[in-house]
Parts: sequence; structure tokens; C-alpha cells
Amino acid sequence: MFYPDQTFQQMSEQLMKIHQDKLHQSRKLVLMVDLDNTLIHTTEIPCQLSPKKNVFKMKLEGSPTYYVRLRPYYKEFLEKISELFELNIFTFACQSYAKTVAGFLDPDNTFFAQRIISRDNCFYPATKMANVRFFSPCGESMTCMIDDREDVWNFAPGLVAVKPYMYSKKQNPYDSHVSMDSGTVAALYALAGTTKIEIPSKKN
Ligand SMILES: [Mg+2]
Repeated sequence: MFYPDQTFQQMSEQLMKIHQDKLHQSRKLVLMVDLDNTLIHTTEIPCQLSPKKNVFKMKLEGSPTYYVRLRPYYKEFLEKISELFELNIFTFACQSYAKTVAGFLDPDNTFFAQRIISRDNCFYPATKMANVRFFSPCGESMTCMIDDREDVWNFAPGLVAVKPYMYSKKQNPYDSHVSMDSGTVAALYALAGTTKIEIPSKKN
């Protein structure tokens, strides 16, 4: 319950606590999920690969037409990891781009529930890691990341680096570097089970 004399900071801390308790009850950690070259590949060149399933045309104000291709088996991947993590999109692209791509990946808001962090929300433009404490309800200790770039996360121990997804006419979606392979899922599961990332015990 909130009271009229509470400061913004007090209300914010209370909301954070509610969110922490919810995560604790569901036994989930927070996962920051990168978009470009992790879940998607965006180009200005139309996709020639057939079938054109999971390819979307995107036109944002002031930008050229983009073609967004979703990584093969992205949905199965998100289904699997959402059992253990509360998923957040975290991209250094702009908010309109992030929201549009989120609509392609998750049209029913099943996985991300509109939890989208873009460069428009960030305080630090050069490193994603420095921004985590502002967005993760549980700070860095309960936050994991998946990204094709390790440097933007300062090579943090909670990071699972993936091989960049780059659309190519020649590629075979069954190649392990194209789809999100089982090793990536296993790495995330290992992180969720590691004792280094502590789930705080509930206070009475
Ligand atoms: Mg990326």
C-alpha cells in the first residue's frame, strides 16, 4: 500500500521490493536479452532466402526500410529460458526500433511483457553494464545477460555470449552457429543454478 506522504524514492523502493518478492516466489532471475545479432539480424537488403517466414519489413520515421530476420528457433529458445528468467529486452538501439522488433518477436507479450530497455532510457551510452542497476529490480547480483558482444557488459560473470547471428543466403538454419544452440541454453541454466548468483531469502 502507498501513502500520500511517501516520497518518490520510497515508493520506488517499495515497488522494487514487490518486484523482488515476485521474482523470489517464482524462483526466477532477471535476464537482459540483446536484439541485434543475438535474436535478430537487420539489414537494408531484402531477404532472398525462401521461405520468407520470420522476415519482417520495417520503416521507421527518418530511417531507410529495414528487413528484420528472426533467428531460427528463437521462439523455442525464449520458451525454454523464460522458465528460469524474467526476460527483458536490452538494446542500444532506439526505443521505436526496439518496440517494433519486440512486436515481431513477441506479438502476444508472452516473453517480454513490454519490458524493453533501449538507448533512450539509458544513462550511460557506452556500456550496458553501468545501466543495469537502474533497471534490474535485483541489482547486478540476480541479473544475467545474453549478447553477441561481451565488451558492452564488461565481460561480466553473468553474461552468456552467443555467436553473432548474421543472415546469409547460404546458411543452413540447422547449423549450430545459426540457431541458438543447446550449449547456450545449458549455459543459462548453469547460471541460474550457480551459487554465485544469490537469490535473497525472504524477510518476514
Ligand atoms: Mg548485439
